[in-house]
Amino acid sequence: MVLSRYSKAVNSVPHISNAAKHVGTHPTPAAKPAMSYPVVVSAYAALLEKLDYLNEADLALVEEAFEFAAAAHAGQFRSSGDPYITHPIAVAEICAEWKLDAQALMAALMHDAMEDCDVTHSDLVAKFGDTVADLVDGLTKLDKLQFDSREESQAESFRKMLLAMARDVRVILVKLADRTHNMRTMSDMPRSKWARISTETLEIHVPIANRLGINRVFRELQDLALQHLHPWRYDTLIKAIARSRNRRKDVVQKIHAEVDAAFAKAGFKIRIAGREKTLYSIYKKMDAKHISFAQVTDSYGVRIVTPTLIDCYTALGVLHQIFRPVPSKFRDFIANPKSNG
Ligand code: MN
Repeated sequence: MVLSRYSKAVNSVPHISNAAKHVGTHPTPAAKPAMSYPVVVSAYAALLEKLDYLNEADLALVEEAFEFAAAAHAGQFRSSGDPYITHPIAVAEICAEWKLDAQALMAALMHDAMEDCDVTHSDLVAKFGDTVADLVDGLTKLDKLQFDSREESQAESFRKMLLAMARDVRVILVKLADRTHNMRTMSDMPRSKWARISTETLEIHVPIANRLGINRVFRELQDLALQHLHPWRYDTLIKAIARSRNRRKDVVQKIHAEVDAAFAKAGFKIRIAGREKTLYSIYKKMDAKHISFAQVTDSYGVRIVTPTLIDCYTALGVLHQIFRPVPSKFRDFIANPKSNG
């Protein structure tokens, strides 16, 4: 039932995708073992170093998945010329930084094995069990989903479909790690592909990372996408931000001190933090409103974290006593939360 709905969805969504995926040559009979490449040895060592949170049994499973994937990708290479297996290793390493469990790491290592090699779902079930096989299967199917960016509304329904399809959230997480590594290594790919892949990342993966609250991925993917989409604008903007960060240092400190004092005086316990708008969201605002960098007034913000939701309004009251709100600019996202919650 779910499967048939899924295949219909696939057929109805027009072409593209498989983004930064890149398989150079086909396996040759003389394919050398992965571990005979120093670059594979060091990538794998870097992965193992990050797996100290796994127990022995889980570690053994991850190693088994690595060996399986390395054999499956033997003789395949990335655009960079490195053995293909370096990519799944890097994806697993990102997942390890997020402390994902052994099954997710195994799926990360084997995420391209069904697509690019002659590995079947039943091979995976027999060797690694249902759960891991289903994770890999989910990742393979997501890869086959083709996204064609024409309208914002289409991107929205595509995102929804993606989330609905991945019944196990680990599929989405591995997918985000996959995209992160492909974006990090995009310079190895032909320039002609940068724009499409970057646009797809901005419209699909960035909003999903945002909705899941994975801030680091949200920011990094935006940055990498803008960098490859508009290298010159990216450069200009990054310099402008660095300059303004320098200039406003004193102001920011002063505001933090005033806010601190006001809450201390009110006897109200809060946590105060700064938040910087991402480079891409500054860019988007400038582009949408046709304004200059200097006119983006919220590139820096003060974030106040209260113990309960209702405390937010009390905190707001404390703040409004020291800073008067600008009437047309005040918005209540407490009552009307943003889409990311
Ligand atoms: Mn991949």
